[in-house]
Amino acid sequence: MLLNRLLIKAIVGPELARWKAAGHWPALWWRDDDARQPTPALDRLLTLSNRFDAPLTLAAVPDGDIAALAKTCRQVRGVELAIHGFRHENRAPSGKPAGEVNDHDEVADVVLELGVALDVFRRAGVVATLFVPPWNNVHPTLKKALALHGLGLSGYGERRSLDAPARVDVHLDLMRWKPRPRFRGAARFLLRARRLLAERRRAGLWDEPLGLLTHHLDHDADSWRFLEAFLSTVTPIRRLDRPRFLNAS
Ligand SMILES: [Zn+2]
Repeated sequence: MLLNRLLIKAIVGPELARWKAAGHWPALWWRDDDARQPTPALDRLLTLSNRFDAPLTLAAVPDGDIAALAKTCRQVRGVELAIHGFRHENRAPSGKPAGEVNDHDEVADVVLELGVALDVFRRAGVVATLFVPPWNNVHPTLKKALALHGLGLSGYGERRSLDAPARVDVHLDLMRWKPRPRFRGAARFLLRARRLLAERRRAGLWDEPLGLLTHHLDHDADSWRFLEAFLSTVTPIRRLDRPRFLNAS
């Protein structure tokens, strides 16, 4: 924990100081993926969200126990549920990047699938307004279907764009995935964070959120330790003004 704090201070500390000197503080947007039901790992995640007063968007797969998830999430302020795919099934042709919607899908069929997913959330008392495609695969057909439903979109790595559907992305993945899920490493994570913060500062994009991506079911001990240190350093976390997306708090 101490080493993580020292690294965070050394690598992103000077950049955060520049933000502060300019009278600003970065807006962190935090998304966690792959929830299907309440688990001890989810409790641990929600405890961190609560402790650091860090709003959290939990992307949940509609084939899970959404009612139980909604009940658990309502106990923590500032937690919202987003729709994470349909069945989190890789339907990409071999050789293509993993994704659930592919070139053979018709917009009308994806619109229907989205309707079913929205109903699942609605029955759990949640008005979902944000869709998170599995593997962050934003297929053009999916984009069209989301716009028809008026749903927002969250992928990986782009700036928030003003076009429809409303988009808020993640940019910093806590994990590395190949050959197996594990912590990305403090230096890799922090150097990217520093670069993204500096880009926003130089462009005057003070309100452009920096998106943090976590996967509570896959965290190893190093991931949890670093996440805690990172959240404690970037607090107070600026809340984003995105009332369209709030649903479970
Ligand atoms: Zn996923």
